[in-house]
Amino acid sequence: MLGLMMERPLLLSGLLEHAASVHGDREIVSYPADEPVYRGDYGKTAARSRRLANAMRGLGVHAGDRVATLACSTHRHLEIFYAAAGIGAICHTINPRLHAEQIAFIAAQAEDVLVFADAAFVVQAEAAVRGGQVRAVVQLDGGIAGPAVVPAANGGSVPLLPYEALLAGQADVLSWPEFDENTAAGLCYTSGTTGKPRGVLYSHRSQILHAFAVALPDVAGISEADSVLPAAPMFHVQSWGIPYAATLAGARLVLPGPRLHGAALAEVIAAEGVTIALGVPTLWVGLIRYLRSTGQRLPTLRRVIVGGAACPPSMITAFQQEFGIEVRHAWGMTEMSPLGTIATPCAKHGGLPEEARTRLQAKQGRPVFGVEIRIEDEAGRPVPHDGRSIGEVKVRGPWVCSGYYRCDEPGTHDAEGWFATGDLGTIDEDGFVHITDRRKDLIKFAGEWISSIEVESLAMENPAVMQAAAIGIPDEKWGEKLLLLVVPSPGSTMREDELLALCRARLAKWSVPTRIICVASLPTSATGKVQKNVLRAQYARCTPAVPLG
Ligand code: ADP
Repeated sequence: MLGLMMERPLLLSGLLEHAASVHGDREIVSYPADEPVYRGDYGKTAARSRRLANAMRGLGVHAGDRVATLACSTHRHLEIFYAAAGIGAICHTINPRLHAEQIAFIAAQAEDVLVFADAAFVVQAEAAVRGGQVRAVVQLDGGIAGPAVVPAANGGSVPLLPYEALLAGQADVLSWPEFDENTAAGLCYTSGTTGKPRGVLYSHRSQILHAFAVALPDVAGISEADSVLPAAPMFHVQSWGIPYAATLAGARLVLPGPRLHGAALAEVIAAEGVTIALGVPTLWVGLIRYLRSTGQRLPTLRRVIVGGAACPPSMITAFQQEFGIEVRHAWGMTEMSPLGTIATPCAKHGGLPEEARTRLQAKQGRPVFGVEIRIEDEAGRPVPHDGRSIGEVKVRGPWVCSGYYRCDEPGTHDAEGWFATGDLGTIDEDGFVHITDRRKDLIKFAGEWISSIEVESLAMENPAVMQAAAIGIPDEKWGEKLLLLVVPSPGSTMREDELLALCRARLAKWSVPTRIICVASLPTSATGKVQKNVLRAQYARCTPAVPLG
């Protein structure tokens, strides 16, 4: 017998209009580059999104079309999310730091018809235009200098239109169309560090269910009273879905634009009274360094959600012990919208001594409802949940991708629909997942597997180490040898012998680095993650000892 409940589609336009009517005057703040701070609210965002939707239709955008963005996290980017999805089109966020060829490739594959670009990324928009079927580029900020066109293939060009002028001519009334909640709403390509970028196509339903999960008390814990700063850019899994979760809760949303580095980030958090901020570990390294060097404190900041890469225990200790800010460590990926697990201690962990609690929080945590997880050995057999046995993490759920966009590469989903993440890990008796490494980042030394995350986390326990990256480099005798690259903390003297002694005391014999190299910085991707593929290429032939200094 079927239940007698209405079948109303979960649509992003409904989410926005709900916020406009219930939380209409709740503020949305944005820090675009080279412009004064913008202060709007959900009511204004809905009105401007309707105008934009009318403008998109005027430019010939139809349901099912893809519109691309090359932009920082601002109110205008948010309006594009809602306007495109609202009319049944798809917002394709492109990472502006990809190579021109990659941008051209994915814009061509997505068949983007329109590109919205920050003034700083109009050059990248040219690559998208060259790639395919783009009919116009809309510049989001700044004035348009010179001819208002962008060169296209075959010597032609497409118009370059100013965003605000486009909106100014439009009515802010629009009756959003209703359609199936499984309609595509957003498209995000994986970074392509292990091959060609692959498109992940989110639906209205997946985004809204994900938003419900993200906002839960034991996940990001977002309420109306919060001021939320997503420091993961909008082109990184749509800021981890946080803009939708904030809209759902009616929380104040602070969009930082390009201000993602130590001082600027601290300034925005302090000025806006941010209570919850979310981002990758490298970003927090910058913030912690800034707070230490200036003595500034961020009394409003209650919680940081750290994800996208492993959060070292030393970062948890720094935030919680030094600055009184709770850390929640989360794991996920583009293919998972991105939320998979979060390490929020349980009620029974209340009395845990600090060190044990930190160890627990350094795990990636338990799956939220909506994500099923299992670990399997190489033969596909389930691995016991004993906190020790390692297997590949497989996931399934309504916001996990069922395949890639226009890509028929086999091998990522099994017959029962489980998606193989490429991450290896353990699950303990309480269901806490511990990611030991990405399969491709594991190092095999003399037949033994080394977890790069374990080595990096330990190195960062040494106060003289600000950042660390462990990579394997080819070695004739051992297969691979372990190279540890460290960025020293400002003003400290790095001692290789001390670091080696720490590794010898705490790691298995084979996990002790063969070599430690001191570097000024580590290469990071546009999403702020350390690019180990770049490091592996750079140090592939590293044989002579490089002195520390
Ligand atoms: P990219 O491939 O550009 O890093 P994603 O953001 O999709 O793109 O990366 C997802 C991957 O990042 C995961 O499969 C995992 O390897 C890693 N990751 C994400 N969060 C964590 C975490 N908390 N701990 C360890 N690894 C993580």
